[in-house]
Amino acid sequence: MSIQPRRWLVCAVAVFTLAVSGVSAAQARPYAGPDLPATYQRLLSEIDKIPIFDHHAHPAFPDDTDVDAMAAPPGSAPLRERLDNPELVAAAKALWGYPYDDFSKEHARWLVQKKAELKKADVTAYFSNLLDKLGIETSIANRVAMPDYLDPKRFRWVFFVDSFLFPFDNHQLTARNPDQQVYIPLQEKVLRRYMQQAQINLLPADLNGYLSFISRILGENQKKGGIAMKFEAAYFRPLRFGDPPRSQAEAIYRKYRSGGLPSADEYRTFQDYIFRYLVGEAGRLHLPVHIHTAVGIGDYFNLSEGNIMNLENVLRDPRYANVTWVMIHGGYPYERQAIWLAAMKNVYLDSSLMEIDLYPSEFKNSLKQWLELFPDKITFGSDSFPYNEVLGAEESYWMGVRSARSALAAALAEMVSAGEISEAKALEMAHAYLHDTAARLYK
Ligand SMILES: [Zn+2]
Repeated sequence: MSIQPRRWLVCAVAVFTLAVSGVSAAQARPYAGPDLPATYQRLLSEIDKIPIFDHHAHPAFPDDTDVDAMAAPPGSAPLRERLDNPELVAAAKALWGYPYDDFSKEHARWLVQKKAELKKADVTAYFSNLLDKLGIETSIANRVAMPDYLDPKRFRWVFFVDSFLFPFDNHQLTARNPDQQVYIPLQEKVLRRYMQQAQINLLPADLNGYLSFISRILGENQKKGGIAMKFEAAYFRPLRFGDPPRSQAEAIYRKYRSGGLPSADEYRTFQDYIFRYLVGEAGRLHLPVHIHTAVGIGDYFNLSEGNIMNLENVLRDPRYANVTWVMIHGGYPYERQAIWLAAMKNVYLDSSLMEIDLYPSEFKNSLKQWLELFPDKITFGSDSFPYNEVLGAEESYWMGVRSARSALAAALAEMVSAGEISEAKALEMAHAYLHDTAARLYK
């Protein structure tokens, strides 16, 4: 019997499938076609309606010190983050109906007053109303602690764990540079807070006790609503973590628990051990690990030591296969290498900060490469943060959301127009990036 009819049937099914999905059977092209602007507009109007899961933000009023375990030392801000960015006026107009075209002293007062009135009218509705305005369904609140004014139904807590890396005399670490003089005391403060929470005045007698103390805080924070742990380690040390034996960490702990200056090597070895312990606990407790992987603020942030690729030995360690990793800020400016880490089934990239530091015209290109490689492993985050009373968490939410929606529409429009994907597939990818992929991690 001839196999011809069956082959014909296979071809017919293939043609039908392509027709339904809207992709021509031709090979993808390097250039977009003349339909690009119209495709962009169509996609943008659909993308504007997608409710967002903001995977990384620091919502807070400007006077709230619990917003971060760190503070910003004076440093040079990139162009778009500077206070004379005209987009900030557009943000104020869009969010509050700001009637002026600049932030002169008197004009800015209008804005400060407007926010104060809204806050006074209903402090708990303030940030929830903001999310509504921007189409954000849920936002992560990456903070030291949750305040009463954030509705836990809309804001999910991600707590900091770096302070467990600093139990000893930190004079030597602090003296390294002026930025560390800002950072390290804040880590000590958070550790003291955790000790108060555990009702202890002194560090436990041995490493065993210290690890139990850590686990106790992690468990309590999870019960209080914490859905993930966050490391900012790249601000304090290289992101390459060694793998010392427990006996070595035990000896260092015993030696310095109640005083004495550890050498840089000893401290780092101890931190390597504690980092791995925390990651192991993250797996046991089903708490995803959020980790800062990008440039950092300040004059002394070490870009090469903070390079996301330094984490590869830990990410590809089979002992942590049960740990979900969220690479905050997507490894930027190494995001093009970083996307290959997302080939690991448990590794996700978050684009926060990138869409604020880069303008949409360039962010589109980074996002497009991610979408073309692992579209199901990338998530949106705004990195909203209260820089000051004029550029607040509110305006940075606006900038992140508006930039990401437009850059996403542009990247997907190029992919559709170049024959890579159908428009239906593009919208599926948009939903995944803006909401579904991140939301699924916390079910
Ligand atoms: Zn952040």
